[in-house]
Amino acid sequence: MQQFPCPFCGLRNEQEFHFAGEAGKIRPDTTRKVSAADWADYLYTQKNTMGEVREVWMHSPCAEIFILRRDSVSMAVLGVEQLRKNKP
Ligand SMILES: [Zn+2]
Repeated sequence: MQQFPCPFCGLRNEQEFHFAGEAGKIRPDTTRKVSAADWADYLYTQKNTMGEVREVWMHSPCAEIFILRRDSVSMAVLGVEQLRKNKP
Protein backbone atom coordinates (compact mmCIF):
# COMPACT_ATOMS: atom_id res chain seq x y z
CA MET A 1 0.00 0.00 0.00
CA GLN A 2 1.27 3.44 -0.91
CA GLN A 3 1.56 6.23 1.63
CA PHE A 4 0.94 9.90 0.95
CA PRO A 5 2.19 12.78 3.08
CA CYS A 6 -0.51 14.96 4.61
CA PRO A 7 0.98 18.39 5.47
CA PHE A 8 -0.90 18.29 8.77
CA CYS A 9 -0.69 14.58 9.84
CA GLY A 10 2.40 13.24 8.06
CA LEU A 11 2.58 9.93 6.19
CA ARG A 12 -0.72 8.05 6.02
CA ASN A 13 -2.15 5.18 3.97
CA GLU A 14 -3.48 6.13 0.55
CA GLN A 15 -6.98 4.89 1.48
CA GLU A 16 -7.38 7.95 3.71
CA PHE A 17 -6.99 10.36 0.77
CA HIS A 18 -9.31 11.53 -1.97
CA PHE A 19 -8.34 12.97 -5.35
CA ALA A 20 -10.01 16.33 -5.97
CA GLY A 21 -8.63 17.26 -9.40
CA GLU A 22 -5.73 18.70 -11.30
CA ALA A 23 -4.13 21.72 -9.69
CA GLY A 24 -4.22 25.00 -11.56
CA LYS A 25 -7.51 24.53 -13.41
CA ILE A 26 -9.33 27.81 -13.88
CA ARG A 27 -12.94 27.73 -12.71
CA PRO A 28 -15.39 29.32 -15.18
CA ASP A 29 -16.59 32.80 -14.23
CA THR A 30 -19.97 32.01 -12.68
CA THR A 31 -20.97 35.68 -12.57
CA ARG A 32 -21.70 35.16 -16.26
CA LYS A 33 -23.69 32.43 -18.00
CA VAL A 34 -21.61 29.25 -18.25
CA SER A 35 -22.62 26.65 -20.82
CA ALA A 36 -23.17 23.08 -19.71
CA ALA A 37 -20.34 22.01 -22.01
CA ASP A 38 -17.88 24.50 -20.46
CA TRP A 39 -18.92 23.48 -16.94
CA ALA A 40 -18.61 19.77 -17.76
CA ASP A 41 -15.21 20.42 -19.32
CA TYR A 42 -14.07 22.16 -16.13
CA LEU A 43 -15.34 19.35 -13.91
CA TYR A 44 -14.40 16.27 -15.91
CA THR A 45 -11.69 16.95 -18.49
CA GLN A 46 -8.23 16.01 -17.25
CA LYS A 47 -4.89 16.40 -19.05
CA ASN A 48 -3.68 12.97 -17.87
CA THR A 49 -0.07 14.06 -18.19
CA MET A 50 2.62 11.36 -18.13
CA GLY A 51 5.32 12.25 -15.62
CA GLU A 52 5.26 14.97 -12.99
CA VAL A 53 1.78 16.23 -12.13
CA ARG A 54 0.33 18.63 -9.55
CA GLU A 55 -2.98 17.52 -8.10
CA VAL A 56 -5.36 18.64 -5.37
CA TRP A 57 -5.93 15.95 -2.73
CA MET A 58 -7.80 15.86 0.55
CA HIS A 59 -6.88 13.86 3.64
CA SER A 60 -10.27 12.78 5.00
CA PRO A 61 -9.47 12.34 8.74
CA CYS A 62 -8.27 15.94 9.12
CA ALA A 63 -9.96 17.48 6.02
CA GLU A 64 -6.64 19.02 4.95
CA ILE A 65 -6.65 20.00 1.27
CA PHE A 66 -3.25 20.29 -0.35
CA ILE A 67 -1.27 19.98 -3.58
CA LEU A 68 0.44 16.63 -4.14
CA ARG A 69 3.23 16.49 -6.70
CA ARG A 70 3.75 12.99 -7.99
CA ASP A 71 5.02 11.06 -10.99
CA SER A 72 1.97 9.67 -12.76
CA VAL A 73 4.02 6.84 -14.30
CA SER A 74 6.03 5.58 -11.32
CA MET A 75 3.49 6.82 -8.70
CA ALA A 76 6.42 8.27 -6.73
CA VAL A 77 5.50 11.17 -4.47
CA LEU A 78 7.64 14.21 -5.36
CA GLY A 79 6.37 16.60 -2.71
CA VAL A 80 3.44 18.38 -1.13
CA GLU A 81 2.42 22.03 -1.06
CA GLN A 82 0.26 23.32 1.75
CA LEU A 83 -2.64 25.51 0.61
CA ARG A 84 -3.30 27.18 3.95
CA LYS A 85 -1.29 30.32 4.61
CA ASN A 86 -1.44 29.88 8.40
CA LYS A 87 -0.22 26.73 10.09
CA PRO A 88 -2.41 25.33 12.87
ZN1 LIG B 1 -4.20 14.93 7.59
